[in-house]
Amino acid sequence: MFEGLQSLKELTAALENSDRGFCEALYAEAGALRDRTIGNKVHLRGLVEISNICRKNCLYCGIRASNGCATRYEISDDEILYAAKFAFEQGYGSLCIQSGERTDAAFTGRITKLVKQIKALSGGALGITLSLGEQSFETLHEWFEAGAHRYLIRIEASNPQLYAKLHPEDNLHSYENRLQVLRDLRSIGWQVGSGVMIGLPYQTFDDLAGDLLFLKDFDIDMVGMGPYIPHPDTPLGRLCLSGEAVIPSEADRLTLSLKMVALLRLLMPDINIAATTALEVLDPQGREMAVKAGANIVMPNISPSAVRAQYDLYEGKKNLTESAALGEMEIGYNEWGDSLRFKSRVS
Ligand code: SAH
Ligand code: SF4
Repeated sequence: MFEGLQSLKELTAALENSDRGFCEALYAEAGALRDRTIGNKVHLRGLVEISNICRKNCLYCGIRASNGCATRYEISDDEILYAAKFAFEQGYGSLCIQSGERTDAAFTGRITKLVKQIKALSGGALGITLSLGEQSFETLHEWFEAGAHRYLIRIEASNPQLYAKLHPEDNLHSYENRLQVLRDLRSIGWQVGSGVMIGLPYQTFDDLAGDLLFLKDFDIDMVGMGPYIPHPDTPLGRLCLSGEAVIPSEADRLTLSLKMVALLRLLMPDINIAATTALEVLDPQGREMAVKAGANIVMPNISPSAVRAQYDLYEGKKNLTESAALGEMEIGYNEWGDSLRFKSRVS
C-alpha cells in the first residue's frame, strides 16, 4: 500500500497525515517489509559513552563545550576494555564507542590503540562501530585499519539552511565538512551510518521528507534518527522551553519519529535502522515501537553506571539495557548484523 512512496511530495504528505489508522498501517507494512528483507531479527550494539568532553558547541546538545553546568568525565582504558569484554561475553556481537568530539593526537592515538586491543581481546569477533564526530581522512583511515568497520555521524539536518540555525556559524560547525566526512568514510571502506533529529525548531515536513531522500541518495548503510529533546542548559533548549521557538508536542515528536523510521524502511528495505534511545524519553515503549515500525538495531547502554548521568546530551536521557521488551523479535546474538545494503554494494 505504501511501498511506492518515493517523491518529496508523497513523503511530505505521509508525514503530515496524523490519522491513527494511516500511521498504524504504515508501521505494520514497514515491519513486514523488514521481516521479508532482512528477517524478524534485532542485532545489538553495546554502547560505551567514553567521554563527554567536546570541542564543539552544537546549539542543541547538553555536552556542548560552553555548557559550564556539565560535569566532564573520561573513562579509563580499563573501563572501556571491561565494557568490551562484557559485550563480548553477553553475545552482543558489536560494540559502539561514542563520545564528544576531540581531534588531538592524544585522543586519536588512544582510540587506535583501544580498537586494536578490543579486536585482540575478542579474537576479532567483536564488531566495532565508532561515533566520534568529525575527523580527518588520515584519522578515519587509521581507525579503519586498526579494525573498526562502522562509523556513525548524523547529518543532523540535511537542509543546509536548517543546519545553520542549529549550529554556530564557524569553521568547526560547517555543513560541508560534515558531508565531506561522510564521503571520506565511504571512500575508505567504512559501513557508513547517518541520521537526523526529528521535531526540531524551524523544521518543516518538507525538511524531514528531504532528510529521507538525502539518506537514500547517499545510499547510506545504517541510520540512527530520533526525536529532538530540548536540554535546558543549551541555547536551543532555552528557546524551546520558553516558548520562543515552537516544536511539536512530545506525542507528535514520537509519532513523527516512528513514521520517519517506517518511511525509511520502505525506501531502503535492506539497511540497518536503529531504534534510538531518545525515543524512550517520550515513551517507555519507544524503542519497541520503533522496532515494530521497521527498525532492526538496538543499542543497550553498557557505559559504567557512575558516569551515565553525565553523558547528558538531552534531558531525561534513559539508560535502559536490552531488557526493554522487543516484542516478538529474535535477537541475533554473537553476530555482527552488518547492513545487507553494504554487503550487496561491496560484493
Ligand atoms: N559528538 C559526536 C557523537 C556524540 S553526539 C557527534 O556529534 O557526532 C550523538 C548525537 O546526539 C548527535 O549526532 C545528535 O543527533 C544527538 N543529540 C545531541 N543533542 C540532542 C538533543 N538535545 N536531542 C536529541 N538528540 C541529540
Ligand atoms: Fe559535541 Fe556531538 Fe554534542 Fe555536537 S552533538 S556538541 S559534536 S557531543
